[in-house]
Amino acid sequence: MVLKSDGSVQWRPVTDPAILEAYRHDASPLQGDPEALLRPASALEAADQLREACSRNIAVTPCGLRSSTTGAGLAPHGWVQSCEKLVGWEVDVERRRAVVGAGVVLREFKDDVEEQGLFYPPDPTSERECSLAGTVACDASGARTYRYGATHRWVTGVEVALPDGSLQWFRRRSVDKDAAGYSGMRDLVGLLCGSEGTLGFITKVEVRLIDRPPAYTSGLAFFGDVFSALAFVGLAREQDRRGDGVKPRCLELLDAGCLEIMRAQGSGVTLPAGAGAAIYFEQEHAVDADEAVLMAWWTALEGSPGALAEDTVVATDPARQEELRLLRHAVPATLNEEGRSHAAQGGRKISTDWAVPFERLAPLVATFDGWLADAGIDRAFRYGHVGNGHPHYNLIVRDAAERARADAVVKRMCEVACAEGGTITAEHGVGKIKLPYVRYRFSPLELEAMKAVKRVFDPTGILAPGNLFPAS
Ligand SMILES: Cc1cc2nc3c(=O)[nH]c(=O)nc-3n(C[C@H](O)[C@H](O)[C@H](O)COP(=O)(O)OP(=O)(O)OC[C@H]3O[C@@H](n4cnc5c(N)ncnc54)[C@H](O)[C@@H]3O)c2cc1C
Repeated sequence: MVLKSDGSVQWRPVTDPAILEAYRHDASPLQGDPEALLRPASALEAADQLREACSRNIAVTPCGLRSSTTGAGLAPHGWVQSCEKLVGWEVDVERRRAVVGAGVVLREFKDDVEEQGLFYPPDPTSERECSLAGTVACDASGARTYRYGATHRWVTGVEVALPDGSLQWFRRRSVDKDAAGYSGMRDLVGLLCGSEGTLGFITKVEVRLIDRPPAYTSGLAFFGDVFSALAFVGLAREQDRRGDGVKPRCLELLDAGCLEIMRAQGSGVTLPAGAGAAIYFEQEHAVDADEAVLMAWWTALEGSPGALAEDTVVATDPARQEELRLLRHAVPATLNEEGRSHAAQGGRKISTDWAVPFERLAPLVATFDGWLADAGIDRAFRYGHVGNGHPHYNLIVRDAAERARADAVVKRMCEVACAEGGTITAEHGVGKIKLPYVRYRFSPLELEAMKAVKRVFDPTGILAPGNLFPAS
């Protein structure tokens, strides 16, 4: 079948099973089953494809580079529409803005703006393997979200193709104050952030840039256990708030099991034998101000109970900073591999993404650890964004029975996290995997309001079936 767009653009859904195979998988354990693949080479072509799909009532699941851990970019049926060919970007250095193609690899864009003295802060660990549109659609975060907030804070405009075949730009207003209409809907950019493909196909994104920080220092601070590490994070947050002491841009936990994995990498970084946890930190500063920054961290650590201040590892030069970064990233990569090794017995890695207000984190970690011990889950690892009340629990389950017990604990964690004012997903999105927990996060009325919004964008419900809402 060859279809025409505007009398000039021709496109053809790809049905070659060898090509489709790659689009059946993402970073989740789920599998998609698309009948065809669309790879629009322009925004107009994307809009034309959606018009055609809508007229024939064919479901369309948008995807980026398929690094989702929740199966969000997998099409259960119908067409999968990839933005991978929508690449290229333009930077307006003067205005500190950039317009970026949906399919651009996040890290490639960031490297380019950094060469121009600018900075785009969102930093998901997957930045080398995810697209700009994917980060907007999932409202991605990273370690530096502690200082800079999630992706939506940096998005000033989104170009979207809709099922009626139209192409629309939504832009934020640039006023400091605005009292027109519902505050959550004063522009529709915010709706597209976290939409997970359910509202439209993102073709371009306009983002805000800032000056590249002149320098930063990173480090690993060690503690006797996770709870003294969390107490230190509380102290660091407090000093940051008061503007008196340390001023971190990230505060990331690594528990004893993670330190074990890091030791096994055989890097040149010394990880003290007595450490039961570490906090990875970064702080930006002026060139040559690293000594003052190190003194502030030293002072804070020395006064923090349970800290092994003498063992703190710091990195002020790029090579050493990269070494620390890679060491930290070895943790999820190693656990992914271990999870996969149990697939034949029905085992896998289960990763949580809930977050709670920081003040509630330590007591909940104690409670949740108790539940895991009671359920006999002995391969439980805690790491990640505790500065934002957002640790990832990675649970390695070796067979289907252990998996069922772990799933039951994760369900209770999500329920309690929401009851404590938190969320079921702080960065990976709901996708298909976290659907059972949505009812803890949203009331029936809130869910109806979101469904009503979806009906405005996608009246026949062809977009991203099974994401965010159960497939009808
Ligand atoms: C090793 C690893 C580490 C990770 N670390 C992080 C992390 O630190 N922080 C974090 O937030 N996430 C992380 N993730 C999850 C994932 O990388 C992010 O969610 C990322 O934003 C997904 O981008 P993608 O291009 O791969 O999108 P996909 O996986 O292809 O799709 C994800 C969602 O975006 C939608 N989407 C994609 N493109 C479009 C489009 N053009 N228009 C409309 N909707 C679209 C899809 O429908 C789907 O709902 C990690 C994943 C892995 C595998």
